[in-house]
Amino acid sequence: MDNCIFCKIANGEIPAATLYEDEEFRVILDLGPASKGHALILPKTHAANIFELSDEMAAKAMILAKKMATVLTEALKCDGFNIVQNNGECAGQTVFHFHIHLIPRYQNDNVGITWVPGNLTDEDKEEILSKVRAILK
Ligand code: AMP
Ligand code: ZN
Repeated sequence: MDNCIFCKIANGEIPAATLYEDEEFRVILDLGPASKGHALILPKTHAANIFELSDEMAAKAMILAKKMATVLTEALKCDGFNIVQNNGECAGQTVFHFHIHLIPRYQNDNVGITWVPGNLTDEDKEEILSKVRAILK
């Protein structure tokens, strides 16, 4: 993708603070961190979102997320960890090149990854179960 900033960062055309790199991924520090150590996993090949990512790359990305979360936890002595991945504008995605957020959490850090819990109605439950199961069949 010619005009994709994360393609350029992942492939080294634009410099970034790189924590880790291999043939398929680069892990960088987020320039607008939610917390100390907030990092991003970027595949070197372009996929706009999780739906465009191959199963193989999705599996590798999750394994790398586990590894980097473990390393960041040891390095920064954080107290918890969020692994976040946004797809689509309404879900908060602003850069349309698949990435995984690695967000170290610290006691009382006030990072707002939260929602107001709703209530699962019987109607919604039945509708969702039947629609999803019909596709999975
Ligand atoms: P999302 O909202 O899930 O698409 O996340 C995009 C993330 O990329 C945000 O957390 C931004 O702070 C971060 N970001 C955008 N541009 C850069 C950049 N050039 N280098 C590092 N992080 C960036
Ligand atoms: Zn890209």
